Amino acid sequence: MDRIVIVGHSIAGVTCGDTLRRRGFDGELTYVGAEDVPAYPRPSLSKAALHPDPVDIAPLPTFAAATEILGHRAVALEPEAVLLDDGRALPYDGLVIATGSRARRLTDSPREYTLRSLADAEALRARLLERPRVTVIGGGPLGMEVASGAVGLGCEVTLLNPGTPLARHLGPLLGGILASLAAEAGVRILDTVVESVTETAEGMAVTLPSGEVLESDIVFTGIGDDPEVDWLASSGLLVDGRLIVDTRQRVLGHPGIVAAGDVCWLDDPAGPRRSPVWTSALEQGRVAADGLLLGDDAPERDHPFYFWTDQWGVSLKVSGTPPREDVAPVVVKGSVDERSFVIHWPGHGAAAALDMRMPVPRLHKLAASRG
Ligand SMILES: Cc1cc2nc3c(=O)[nH]c(=O)nc-3n(C[C@H](O)[C@H](O)[C@H](O)COP(=O)(O)OP(=O)(O)OC[C@H]3O[C@@H](n4cnc5c(N)ncnc54)[C@H](O)[C@@H]3O)c2cc1C
Repeated sequence: MDRIVIVGHSIAGVTCGDTLRRRGFDGELTYVGAEDVPAYPRPSLSKAALHPDPVDIAPLPTFAAATEILGHRAVALEPEAVLLDDGRALPYDGLVIATGSRARRLTDSPREYTLRSLADAEALRARLLERPRVTVIGGGPLGMEVASGAVGLGCEVTLLNPGTPLARHLGPLLGGILASLAAEAGVRILDTVVESVTETAEGMAVTLPSGEVLESDIVFTGIGDDPEVDWLASSGLLVDGRLIVDTRQRVLGHPGIVAAGDVCWLDDPAGPRRSPVWTSALEQGRVAADGLLLGDDAPERDHPFYFWTDQWGVSLKVSGTPPREDVAPVVVKGSVDERSFVIHWPGHGAAAALDMRMPVPRLHKLAASRG
């Protein structure tokens, strides 16, 4: 393999490129990235970038000697070349697809904000500094972090979510604690879905199924993301619109092509699934490099699920998937009532540390322990 093209210049793509070089790949390596900035840690966009005291976001460290084509999108894939938006065709022997995903929106209004890129974060921060009334749609990790940032910047925030925010992601115990912290910080939380969102003369109107109409200056939508696969539409790589990879990140049925990170679906006996979190993108980038160079001899993907979030002045780290039903955890340190603890759920492969220092490998070990 002489020429490898990596499309997507963020954590999955950059980790894959670095790993290819570490494994001894000495051919031509080219990155294509739609954003005209050095790769950066996306999780900081809803944390450091919305902090009352602005914190510079350091670029991701990259080691691989490579050609970088930044500020250009891949627009199509031919059997042996990637086509760019300026008409260039980049031939490849090996291809890495790491184009991530884009935020879902509910309108085309400029008063509806989403958060996926550095440019989005700059625009959102600038608007929040004017202290608008904000309706946050979606109580997942992103909606809750943005609500926390908006409150910190002095905004009045209403958050809409069916059920307890974060409970679907983190289970009722952790979701309940973070939702309580949000309510104590002054967020009005409504247990509801949204019927429609429209722009008004002055701001935004969100209509609920109850008929109630909520008026605010802006809306922030945090209702999930869709993989960036439009440029692959006629490539033959997609199955029902999905880019599906095997346990070595190889695109099913397409030798010489791997994918990593938020863009891909992981083949699984229970059906394809995504794992759109930072450490998964990083690990998948590593596995993809081996999958491309070593084929069937490459190690399979095998990393524990890890997620963290910072909001309401606390930091939560989670290893594994906490039970979705109400299962009492074992408290290892601290106290659940005081919302400062290390806990685990024996038999569920999950552990969490809230407002406690805990090295991630130790959290994984605790999650795996049965006692
Ligand atoms: C605001 C925010 C906060 C987050 N916080 C957390 C957190 O606290 N914890 C956690 O675990 N995870 C968090 N995540 C998720 C995590 O950041 C992602 O899982 C991770 O960034 C995925 O990496 P990736 O390289 O697959 O994709 P991305 O980081 O999305 O990068 C994809 C890159 O490809 C580029 N691209 C797209 N299409 C094209 C194209 N056609 N041609 C060329 N380039 C293209 C994009 O511009 C982008 O630069 C957060 C995500 C966001 C948006």
